[in-house]
Amino acid sequence: MGRIGRLETPHGVVETPTLMPVVNPNLMLVEPSELERFGAEMLITNAYIIYKKKELRENALEGGVHKLLGWEKPLMTDSGSYQLYEYGDVEVSNKEIVEFQLEIGADVVVPLDIPTPPDARRERAENDLEKTLRRLEEAKAVLDGRDEKPLLAGPIQGSTFLDLRERSAMAASGMGFDVYPIGGLVPLLEAYRYKELVEIIITAKRRLPADAPVHLFGVGHPIFFSLAVALGCDLFDSAAYALYAKNDRYLTSDGTYFLEDLQYLPCSCPVCSKYNIKYLKECGREERARLLAEHNLHVTFAEIRAVRQAIWENRLWELLERRCRAHPRCSAA
Ligand SMILES: [Zn+2]
Repeated sequence: MGRIGRLETPHGVVETPTLMPVVNPNLMLVEPSELERFGAEMLITNAYIIYKKKELRENALEGGVHKLLGWEKPLMTDSGSYQLYEYGDVEVSNKEIVEFQLEIGADVVVPLDIPTPPDARRERAENDLEKTLRRLEEAKAVLDGRDEKPLLAGPIQGSTFLDLRERSAMAASGMGFDVYPIGGLVPLLEAYRYKELVEIIITAKRRLPADAPVHLFGVGHPIFFSLAVALGCDLFDSAAYALYAKNDRYLTSDGTYFLEDLQYLPCSCPVCSKYNIKYLKECGREERARLLAEHNLHVTFAEIRAVRQAIWENRLWELLERRCRAHPRCSAA
């Protein structure tokens, strides 16, 4: 099901599959204006973080979120669902955050869906899903009454219950959205539960319109791109390039290394061509984080290009078989 697509947004057309680097407006390791150099066509930022901080909120309302970040290309905003998941509560309603995303000019608006963690109790997963569906309906109603016409995302939830994932995908398809993000997957990814991840994606995909872009929320490790694209996913987002860089972690297309475990730099990106392993280990913390973030971005977008090329050549399956050898759980999936 791997495909090359064109996603049309108010700020231009994006070729998919692609990865949207996550930009934290409070802490930018790489300036958004520089991200294009690595291959980024679209970014994602968090509307809730902007909403919560008075200075950011006022700037975004006055000049728009594109101006705030210094990025004139397509931009998706997340709603605070991640914060809801991490901290159990957010100080904004679904309607308020959807309206806010419209007011600051996001290209893709996301309702405040409720991510249910894997292995949740059935009752909780059901309740969270019902609430999510009501919020999706509410978001549609908000957009219907407005002049701005951004894309609207309809997130799929349901924890590790496949029948709830199916119900979620059917209900969202019935309402009709422009982008379908599948949420609540990051804990599975972090626990190497790739097989369940694949089952959830297949279950959702079967109930979504075939031509609609599917986004995997928070999934951004290059090891997983070829498999996810073969399952029919088009968009990824991740803060991994920056978060990993801060922990001295070095991404490759078949796994992650701690810098201290590397004797050589097995890469030919501009960073790894210019510096050697000794320099990276010995330079200051801040410089190292910056250089690792750049390397991580180069590797990530190189893998996106490799996936696209493999699709053109009808060799995506071969690429994913090679990548999946990197971890036994991945080949099992
Ligand atoms: Zn490199």
